[in-house]
Amino acid sequence: MLREFDYDNQAVVDIVNEMIVDAVNKNASDIHFDPTPTVLKVRMRIDGELMDYAIVPEIVKKNLTTRIKIISGMNITESRMPQDGAIKSEFGGKDVDMRVSSLPLVNGEKVVIRILDYSMSLQGIETLGLSDYNLQKVLKMIAVPNGIILTTGATGSGKSTTNYSILKRLNTPDKNIITVEDPVEMQIDGLNQVQVMSEIGLNFAEVLRSILRQDPDIIMIGEIRDDETARIAVRASITGHLVLSTIHTNNSLNTIERLTDMDVERYLLGTALTGIISQRLAKRLCPKCRGSRHASEYEKIVIKKALGIDIQGLYTPVGCSECLNGYKGRIAIQEVLDITTEIKDAITNSTPKEELRKLVYGNGKTQTLLQDGLKKVVNGLTSFEEILRIIDIEEDFGEGDEELKNALIGRSAELTKQNMNKKAIAPTNNQETLNMFFQPSGNMSNNMMMNQNYNYNQAQKFNKGMNLPQTNPNLNNNMMNQQMYNPNMIMNQR
Ligand SMILES: [Zn+2]
Repeated sequence: MLREFDYDNQAVVDIVNEMIVDAVNKNASDIHFDPTPTVLKVRMRIDGELMDYAIVPEIVKKNLTTRIKIISGMNITESRMPQDGAIKSEFGGKDVDMRVSSLPLVNGEKVVIRILDYSMSLQGIETLGLSDYNLQKVLKMIAVPNGIILTTGATGSGKSTTNYSILKRLNTPDKNIITVEDPVEMQIDGLNQVQVMSEIGLNFAEVLRSILRQDPDIIMIGEIRDDETARIAVRASITGHLVLSTIHTNNSLNTIERLTDMDVERYLLGTALTGIISQRLAKRLCPKCRGSRHASEYEKIVIKKALGIDIQGLYTPVGCSECLNGYKGRIAIQEVLDITTEIKDAITNSTPKEELRKLVYGNGKTQTLLQDGLKKVVNGLTSFEEILRIIDIEEDFGEGDEELKNALIGRSAELTKQNMNKKAIAPTNNQETLNMFFQPSGNMSNNMMMNQNYNYNQAQKFNKGMNLPQTNPNLNNNMMNQQMYNPNMIMNQR
């Protein structure tokens, strides 16, 4: 529903403030002001999706844009060139840090406010949604005083949050930590943070050369974007520094491929790399209203292949007054690769991709993004549809999987059928249906830490008139303890 303002009587200053307070309260990551030939459309990105927020009438349109430009320190007499600005102020009792960008369009200036909220990263790496298995791997990696640890994923996949959380853990008085960032997204006490300024020639490579003369223990490079930065990162790590950085790739395997494509000495790269954390954000199923439905053949095959378990049903989004279409907040899906000696050798020797894939995923020590995501699906934290949306399943399984291809052909037919039976997949509190869904099936294998113990007390509660499943029965008596998946976690945009 659109937010109404009294544009005739309310001051523009107040309207802008109220919009920002609203955005902060809604946990929005961005506010968009889109000019049309007449009005200004205001939208907010919440949990990764843009949603309509308000329509600003023509008479206020220009003033509102000007007000934002003033508070973000932009030149208000310039409207034909793009500009960048920032707002750092208190809104609704919260300190808010915002980046503002304006872009001249044919209908006027489009302004986007990005809200930087790092309250998440300050809570520490235990709250990042890492499975217990992955968390232990990350803790082991960051305990090594040298090497490169990369966090990978697209923009908005929570990379920075993960990096800041690791830095927070490493931030002790006996360490000299220097970061080079573009932009510095959050200021943390105890860190020496450098802001890149490419307009005066202060780029990543330039700053890094100086940093190495500043006796650092730990270096954080905002992003490895070019060969030169990659080379300096490698050299820094092999001379005894721990280097944290991010790179724009989608999984561990592609990260190695991308790095070896860069102009970096392979034997040095092999030596330097210690770990890769790949990350995605999935919308989190609203625990208040999620329902369950039968799993399709395709879903059964994918889950069987990825996790080695048989499932009958899956959790599904429903929608209630507390969420948006059945989703609320986001959870991180991760893949953590510990670079073994074999993988180091493979990097040095330019091993082909399919062989490298076997080394990376073959020994079962690396849970793929798909496996981590599907576990979170089975545990009711997110939906199968979400995982399908954010992870390329075929890429994950490797090319040429016949069974999967056939299942995929059958999938479109299934989807049509599912849509026709939408009613049948509505939330259920029916004992029989729940039993059918969550009782372990006969030939379930015992691997992947999956324990499908069905909690009968839970079912009794449903019978006594509790409406919907609020806790996943699979989570009980399960190795996936609370620490592994914190259901209260809401990831921010990045
Ligand atoms: Zn809900």
